[in-house]
Amino acid sequence: MGLEQLWQLQEIDLAIKALEEEEEHTPLRQELQAATEEVERLRGELAEAEETLKNQRKRLKILEMDLQKNSDSRTALRKRLYGGEVSNVRELEQMEIKLGLLEKEQQAREDETLELMEAIESGDEELRGKAARLQEKETNRQSKETELGETLKRIKGDLEQLRRQREELAAHIEPRLLDRYQLLAQKHGGRALARVVEDVCGGCGVFISSAQRGFLFNPEALVYCESCGRLLVKLSDHD
Ligand SMILES: [Zn+2]
Repeated sequence: MGLEQLWQLQEIDLAIKALEEEEEHTPLRQELQAATEEVERLRGELAEAEETLKNQRKRLKILEMDLQKNSDSRTALRKRLYGGEVSNVRELEQMEIKLGLLEKEQQAREDETLELMEAIESGDEELRGKAARLQEKETNRQSKETELGETLKRIKGDLEQLRRQREELAAHIEPRLLDRYQLLAQKHGGRALARVVEDVCGGCGVFISSAQRGFLFNPEALVYCESCGRLLVKLSDHD
């Protein structure tokens, strides 16, 4: 009757189904996706931090020039104020007021310069940290990519081999039996056949009636489980 071969065919079909599911649902795809997103996010952060630093350095240069200008103005003003050229009291007063304003401005610029230099220093350090983290995440992403590629290649190779085996095996089984198998397999989630082990149906766990038990030893008989309807197989290498 070829039931043993049909059992083997079912084993192959189940293995093919498991591999197809693994191929479709391998968690490696999501892991790679997550790793890629992480790399993109860090790249964005790094670019943003670089932009901030660039602007801070620009601002620092402007401040340095302003400070120089302020210093030059104060020197010139002091020279006139204390040089004795100007004797008009009102004018002298105005010059003093201006000098005071320039000194105030200088103090503010110096404070900002100091703050900015500190910000640049810590920004530089942060940038180096981000760059190192990005490198690490990129390495991780690449290894996920390699792992996924290898997994898919292995599955593909295994599937090709199993499909060849199935074809060879199916050629030796009666078409009528194959049709029966396909119908039952659809009904029972790929498990059309159930082994009988110690008089129990391996598909549903129900005892086989004694009347059916006798037929199991008839190689010409197709015996179905009265409980679940699966085709029963008594394998010669078992009990
Ligand atoms: Zn059953």
